[in-house]
Parts: sequence; C-alpha cells; structure tokens
Amino acid sequence: MIRACTGRRTCIEEKPYLIGLGTDISERRLLEQEMVRQARTDSLTGLANRRHFMELAKLELARALRHKKQLSVLMLDLDDFKLVNDCHGHHIGDSLLRAVADTIRKTLREIDIAGRLGGEEFGILLPESDTRQSAEVAERLRQEVAHTMVALAGDQTLSVTASIGISTLSDENATIDKMLSLADKAMYDAKHAGRNQVCLAQAREID
Ligand code: GH3
Ligand code: MG
Ligand code: MG
Repeated sequence: MIRACTGRRTCIEEKPYLIGLGTDISERRLLEQEMVRQARTDSLTGLANRRHFMELAKLELARALRHKKQLSVLMLDLDDFKLVNDCHGHHIGDSLLRAVADTIRKTLREIDIAGRLGGEEFGILLPESDTRQSAEVAERLRQEVAHTMVALAGDQTLSVTASIGISTLSDENATIDKMLSLADKAMYDAKHAGRNQVCLAQAREID
C-alpha cells in the first residue's frame, strides 16, 4: 500500500496533540503509472512511440558521447506495404505490423531500443555497436522480417520485406536528428537498390 500522510501539531486544553491523516493512494499511483505507459507506447505494436523513442535516443546519445562508446541507429521501413492493405485489407496490414514488431523485439538484445516512428517505419537504437556489429544485426533483422508470416484465409500466409538504413556515431557534434536523417537516407538507398536490403550511411553532409 502507498500512503500519503499529513500531520500537524495542535493544543487542546493546553495539552499538545499530533493529528495525522493517512490516505491510501495506491490506486491513484497505479493509474498515473498506466497513463505514463500509454503516453509512451504505440498502441498497435506495444513498441515505444515516436516521442518516447526520441527521448530515449537523446539519452543514449548523451551516454555514448559521455563514455566515448559506440552507438548505431537503424531506420527500417517495410517494402510496398501499401499493396498489403490494398490487396488484403487494413486489418491484415495491422496484423503484419504487429508481427513485425514482435520479430524486432525478439531479434534485439535487452539493451537495444525499438520504436514505431510512423506508419510502417521503425527506428532502432543499438548501443555499443559499431558499423560492423550493427550491419550484422540489421542483416539478421532483414532476414527475420522476411520470414515473419501472418495467416490468411485458407492455409495461405503473407509476409513482407524491409529496407534498412544504418548510421553509426562518428563525431562528437552528432545529434539524434542528424543520425536519424543519415539512417533515413541510407534506407532510401536500400529502396532504390531494389528493396529488401541493408545500406550503410555515407559520410555526407546533412541537407
Ligand atoms: P515503399 O517500399 O516505398 O516504402 O512503399 P510503401 O507502399 O511501403 O510506402 P508508402 O509510403 O507508399 O505506403 C505506406 C503504407 O503504409 C500506406 C499506409 O496505408 C500503410 N500504413 C501506414 N500506417 C498503417 C497502419 O497503422 N496500419 C496499416 N494497416 N497500414 C498502415
Ligand atoms: Mg514502406
Ligand atoms: Mg514509410
């Protein structure tokens, strides 16, 4: 039980008394915690929503810079996802998004952070991972996503592929916005190269 207590001293007929009042606030505290959880979570997939992902990303970047550690960011966008909705309906699209989110969760380490940044686009933070390590994770993710299935009517199944861009922390003036922008450009390189692949960010200026 969580109690909120107030108390004050008083005198009655010149005798000192202490009056105390204790209220059980357990339920209110649980409600507050649930509201915070909901405000941070994407309701479809249960991953961090964009705002919470950005908060966590800023903390991770600050930690990486402070301790001179590696940090990589992945942008993962599902390929031709509009076709999934157009051909099979929005509810099947939603099921596939949930299944992909489960795959992302299962494939990552405990310390990694994934968020749904928008429609069919996911951001992933890989603390303490350099370019080589993050490329390995991205390739494993790409394969696992391609093997993720949802059931259709009859005994048919449906899967989807992903294009993934990677940017790795390379200078002490980096910001999360710059890293995400580089990962986003790399993700579009993967799209232009034919989709269902992983691309590394080039060392280039942010527009
Ligand atoms: P590309 O390979 O270039 O990324 O093609 P795409 O079709 O995936 O990209 P596009 O941006 O044209 O379409 C994204 C689609 O994702 C369109 C939209 O209907 C779908 N989408 C976005 N959010 C949701 C959602 O919450 N549920 C479902 N079912 N579909 C969504
Ligand atoms: Mg897409
Ligand atoms: Mg997209």
